[in-house]
Amino acid sequence: MREVWVYAESEAGRLHPVVDELMGEGRRLADRLGGSLGAVLLSPHDSLAGELALWADRVYVTPDPRLDRYTDERHSQLLARLIEAYRPEIVLIGGTRRGKSLAPRAAARVGTGLIADCTSLKLDEDGLLLAALPTFGGRLLATIVCPNHRPQMATLVPGAFASGPKGAGGKIINYPWADPEAGTVKVLEQKPLPVDDRPLKGAEIVIAGGRGMGSRENFVLLEEVARLLGAAVGASRGAVDAGWTGPGQLIGQTGAIVRPQLYIACGISGATQHVVGMQRAEVVVAVDKDPKAPIFDLATYGIVGDCREFLLELKRRLPAPCSADEENQGKND
Ligand SMILES: Cc1cc2nc3c(=O)[nH]c(=O)nc-3n(C[C@H](O)[C@H](O)[C@H](O)COP(=O)(O)OP(=O)(O)OC[C@H]3O[C@@H](n4cnc5c(N)ncnc54)[C@H](O)[C@@H]3O)c2cc1C
Repeated sequence: MREVWVYAESEAGRLHPVVDELMGEGRRLADRLGGSLGAVLLSPHDSLAGELALWADRVYVTPDPRLDRYTDERHSQLLARLIEAYRPEIVLIGGTRRGKSLAPRAAARVGTGLIADCTSLKLDEDGLLLAALPTFGGRLLATIVCPNHRPQMATLVPGAFASGPKGAGGKIINYPWADPEAGTVKVLEQKPLPVDDRPLKGAEIVIAGGRGMGSRENFVLLEEVARLLGAAVGASRGAVDAGWTGPGQLIGQTGAIVRPQLYIACGISGATQHVVGMQRAEVVVAVDKDPKAPIFDLATYGIVGDCREFLLELKRRLPAPCSADEENQGKND
């Protein structure tokens, strides 16, 4: 039976949201192949296996306490062993920061190729995976195949795929981690990066800043406006490279893909690599001092002007969010 596998990334006992999309795409490919869907869980939190079994026909789980802290070495070693033991046809991994680090290592260990950052997948008549991804700076859509090696492995851009139905009631298979290789990496401490409290994925409003924001101070102003609007904070590569916000806020070809109802772009020129991440927004408001900036080509409303002035004005006009006490008071009135 030809099997499509999904690597189920998890952290602190919770599945990464990208797993939802991988399962949807994995099921679609498995049905098309006439095969089954498998999920791989390398985590001591084996309660997640039950959750995965709602999607997958088989869940391969190694609930070893040594896997509590993720390392590329351990997880790629174990994923490669599982692949060699069960020989899946296709392996899908989320194009998250961790997935992008794990996938090439696992692929190299099993001697196969890796198709990175796919935004859509198809199968041809022979079960060959046709993976589409933007190339030449997003100007072309390339189709990449892996004809001579198995499994066919790919990382999928988070946000580009639809989630799938649950209800499979799959079988859970325990795979013990015998004889681990001596690792060279020891994790001493883990500290979460400061991230914006509203996740980009699923946000109804996104306000994003680019190089035109000019400074970290101005980016803080944008974050304040985001809180007033109840929006998630996004960024272009220009702002991330300047260090005004973290890579988790990046939108575009190498970042997140968002589909909000409202997208406000401040000081973002509209490079194709950015646009692929936000072009599905329902309404786009763009603020740029250059009237010829390409972002105006797709903006619903364009404001030619200084983004700091725009944000100060917006902040002045937006009502302050009411505190929990005020909200309760309102309910009691
Ligand atoms: C392989 C590859 C992948 C990439 N992936 C991504 C990606 O995922 N996401 C991404 O965003 N980029 C990506 N890039 C980079 C992308 O090509 C652009 O360089 C980047 O998006 C530019 O960021 P920006 O719009 O903030 O900066 P710029 O292009 O420099 O634009 C800044 C804009 O701000 C305006 N401006 C300046 N001052 C003000 C002001 N005071 N008020 C108002 N407007 C002002 C300017 O007129 C200009 O239009 C990628 C590039 C490559 C090659």
